[in-house]
Amino acid sequence: MNVASAQRKNFLPRRPRPTIRSCSVALGLVKLRADRKIMRIFVPKEVDPIETRVPLLPDVVSKLAGLGAKVEVELGLGSGLNYSDADYERAGATISCDRIGSLKEADLVLRVRKPPSDEINSLKEGCIHVSFLDPFNERELVERLASAHVTAVSLEMIPRITVTQKMDALSSQRNLSGYVAVVLAAAGSDRIFPMLITPSGTIKPLKVFIIGVGVAGLQAIATARRLGASVEAFDTRPVVEEQVKSLGARFIKVELGETGEAAGGYAKELSPEQLQKQREEMARHVAQADVVITAAQVFGGRAPVIVTAEMIGQMKPGSVIVDTAIESGGNVECSKYNEETDVNGVKIIAFANLPGRVATHASEMFSNNLGAFVDHFWDKNTKGLRLDLANPILRGCVITHAGQVCHEVIQKAYVAETAQPESLQN
Ligand code: NAD
Repeated sequence: MNVASAQRKNFLPRRPRPTIRSCSVALGLVKLRADRKIMRIFVPKEVDPIETRVPLLPDVVSKLAGLGAKVEVELGLGSGLNYSDADYERAGATISCDRIGSLKEADLVLRVRKPPSDEINSLKEGCIHVSFLDPFNERELVERLASAHVTAVSLEMIPRITVTQKMDALSSQRNLSGYVAVVLAAAGSDRIFPMLITPSGTIKPLKVFIIGVGVAGLQAIATARRLGASVEAFDTRPVVEEQVKSLGARFIKVELGETGEAAGGYAKELSPEQLQKQREEMARHVAQADVVITAAQVFGGRAPVIVTAEMIGQMKPGSVIVDTAIESGGNVECSKYNEETDVNGVKIIAFANLPGRVATHASEMFSNNLGAFVDHFWDKNTKGLRLDLANPILRGCVITHAGQVCHEVIQKAYVAETAQPESLQN
């Protein structure tokens, strides 16, 4: 049962909803503990059982300690990846056996996933919380963070510009998703990817079709090509064609009318008519493919359903589909969250947390991203994190501050949601 339904049933006390006010009210300077001696950073263990990644590894701990921060990590933080508490201590961290006590004391909390809602009240007023947050779909959680006067940074909202590449956790993790998707497809297929000409016979290269060529799709193309597959790809953004070709794959052209790009290089959501046309045009390519990898997303929204049950029915038995968009609802009609299913002999893999399947490298990259974020906004004079909310990077990724939902786009999305009749919500 979620918090809202618990509140409706009077199991939990109601909290006042934070007001969604103009962003300008929230703009200001968050200077954390600059007046005090040492900024306390706490890294708790991830609680979601699906999560295998570790937010901060010892080498980045030592960098943060070198900046002058006091870094505390929860007992056993890195044990899943064979990093011992002693490794963290050697890097300059102290080990906490009191998770809640450490959360209460922390000026800055770093983690992979959104905070568990029952821990928000343990965060102290003014605490900065940095993690993936999925703010478009986590309104209740975001509003609780605002009410608790937490400054919440959403990693997926960091603007994708040159200067932020080193802290772009969305890209680092999607990149690995693309790789893992191909490895899962190869393991799930009863065929090999490369062409083989041998005395025992000639084997044609496997046909891989990749739908959605953002960061994950590009890596999927590169990985499938390295394995020797013949690769086709499609994306609604025309600019992708050159990138696809440069990786040695064939770009499938579909005339959908105006598609273009939204701000930040993201895809615009297709109209229902465009999506239907896309499905019709894709059907032949899906039917001919041995492997289909879907990685099509619409920023902040639900992933478009592109591969229908009817299309799967046209595929050869023994083919494999990997749906990397499952955490946003999925691109494949028959895919089931975090499951592998068989539909008429076609294997559909829709595992969640694909980067978590290569958790050591995923954690290395994620930890570097967090380290780069802290380093970028670290004030060497005051030895504290200095978040000037007028900074365009922070304006893009700080969602709550000083008791408010301060992010302009998120505010608008919530206001629009509230204006919708209840029957259309969710
Ligand atoms: P994403 O995960 O939001 O979307 C994945 C892909 O799905 C996108 O390429 C999108 O065009 C595509 N898509 C959406 N609807 C589709 C449909 N119906 N059919 C087929 N494809 C569909 O994207 P992402 O990987 O996060 O990247 C988003 C953008 O950000 C890209 O333009 C990327 O080049 C850009 N980017 C820039 C930087 C940088 O400059 N630092 C870093 C990373 C990404």
